[in-house]
Amino acid sequence: MIVCERVREVRSFVDRAKSQGKSIGFVPTMGALHAGHLSLIHQAKAQNDLTVCSIFVNPAQFDQLHDFEHYPKLPKEDQALLLGAGCDVLFAPHTAEMYPHGIDQLATKFSFGQLEYRMEGRHRPGHFNGVGIVVSKLFHIVNPDRAYFGQKDLQQYLIIRQLVEDLSFDLEVIRCPIVREADGLAMSSRNLRLSPEERAIAPLLHQTLQQVADALFSGVALPEALEQGRGAFAQQPAFQLEYLEAGDARTLAPVEVFGEGDAIAICLAAQLGSVRLIDNIIIE
Ligand code: AMP
Repeated sequence: MIVCERVREVRSFVDRAKSQGKSIGFVPTMGALHAGHLSLIHQAKAQNDLTVCSIFVNPAQFDQLHDFEHYPKLPKEDQALLLGAGCDVLFAPHTAEMYPHGIDQLATKFSFGQLEYRMEGRHRPGHFNGVGIVVSKLFHIVNPDRAYFGQKDLQQYLIIRQLVEDLSFDLEVIRCPIVREADGLAMSSRNLRLSPEERAIAPLLHQTLQQVADALFSGVALPEALEQGRGAFAQQPAFQLEYLEAGDARTLAPVEVFGEGDAIAICLAAQLGSVRLIDNIIIE
């Protein structure tokens, strides 16, 4: 595996590979890798000649300084996992390589319409602007044929699809399923920051989503099913539920009724101690 810290190193690798007719699969991450990230690497490897993974904790997408400063960093472990997964190139730039003039000097602003005002967008002001900036930069640097994103961050995936469409990036955006722990908790780098007590109750996120889905399939109306789900969190004072909402699975536009032929996403975010967790489930 080639490890690059510089933009020009990745560019020259990719240029050479492309001139030999090779396809590039790209997996952008913030590191502290787990089996969820590795599932994206496996899919990229299966569909492309070469796989590039980036690890960059992007300061421009954090709305909370505490969250940015405490984001887990495990560079040695990450490299070993990527090597084991057969990744071809790791791009791990320093902040100054991505933002030579600092993030305060960034002038470009993205707006993603209604997607900005719902769920993550509403609760994390500026977050998707930062995502749009870093992903655009990474796409320009890596020039992939296919880019892989997890359903774990469903709204992010939808925003990136919009970005690719609006700006004519010549690549395919691929959504990969959520990888979970045995008890249902969605794998996340932030899980490393949970105390043993918090980790023990963290599966409530997934359990609640599953209960909402079960209620819908047994004929409970959508608003009541969501209200029951919110009730489950009200009984667990360790959690602060930020939202539990349903939206159209393709647009996240609000839905009031779950009808035949519909695909809806039930999404939630909750603070558990100092850790913010998200999860979702798509039901059809
Ligand atoms: P992150 O390092 O958290 O920015 O995540 C990098 C990519 O991995 C994103 O596309 C995430 O959606 C994806 N990802 C994170 N956790 C999981 C998971 N449990 N299952 C599948 N994909 C995931």
